[in-house]
Amino acid sequence: MSELDLILFGPPGAGKGTQADRLRDDFQLAFISTGDMLRANVKQGTQLGLEAKKYMDAGELVPDALIVAMAVERLQEEDARDGFILDGFPRTIEQAKALEKQLHDLGRRVTAALLIDVPDVEVIRRLSGRRVCVKEGHNYHIDFDPPRREGVCDQDGSQLVQRDDDKPEVIENRLRVYHENTEPLIEYYDDHGLMRRIDGTRPADDVHDHIRAVIATLRLEENV
Ligand code: ADP
Ligand code: ADP
Repeated sequence: MSELDLILFGPPGAGKGTQADRLRDDFQLAFISTGDMLRANVKQGTQLGLEAKKYMDAGELVPDALIVAMAVERLQEEDARDGFILDGFPRTIEQAKALEKQLHDLGRRVTAALLIDVPDVEVIRRLSGRRVCVKEGHNYHIDFDPPRREGVCDQDGSQLVQRDDDKPEVIENRLRVYHENTEPLIEYYDDHGLMRRIDGTRPADDVHDHIRAVIATLRLEENV
């Protein structure tokens, strides 16, 4: 018996947050989003938040040393003991190696890396129409997933805003950074036999069904 230690990755705007939200109800796993953790640090004005903000606003990656320390600490928390889904980490080969080492030290390993695959044109369409709620960061899209009342979160009634890094010039940079730094992880996890591809262009419900089916198969294989 082993845990399910899963990585959810893909370009910005692929639907990782949207899917993580849905999977939360399906599986007893810790959901860890490095983007959400960083935004919480920015909001609270911590030292990490202050350092990370300039990279986030520019659509650049936060330096590996900062992000690895934050993620490694989080993985040691109680709720991650029986498995986790990582959203947005690792994003570089160096981060992937640090994760591997940390899990190895805990007698664990990555079960699978799930790639939500979406082409650049769709990323631009999704990110430019994305709106998030100020309270919990729930995701909407002005065309593909509009809230019932314009500008108001269905789930907690808070205001919907556009993220600073969802402005056109920043989106372009985030895509460049993805192709340069994060895409090499596809080959990395392919070589390790851990890669599972999900067609992210389908409607969110279909993507959700596909991911659930993949996780169910992994569970059978891993006997968890
Ligand atoms: P990520 O966490 O990968 O950056 P999000 O989950 O925030 O991506 O999704 C980006 C935007 O695309 C959001 O506005 C979301 O509502 C929308 N979206 C997510 N999944 C889909 C989908 N399958 N089809 C159309 N729009 C989607
Ligand atoms: P998205 O999935 O829409 O790209 P995230 O919420 O995952 O956005 O990340 C927002 C920003 O936080 C990134 O553009 C980057 O600056 C920073 N960030 C999040 N995760 C990482 C990571 N693993 N490594 C470096 N920077 C990160």
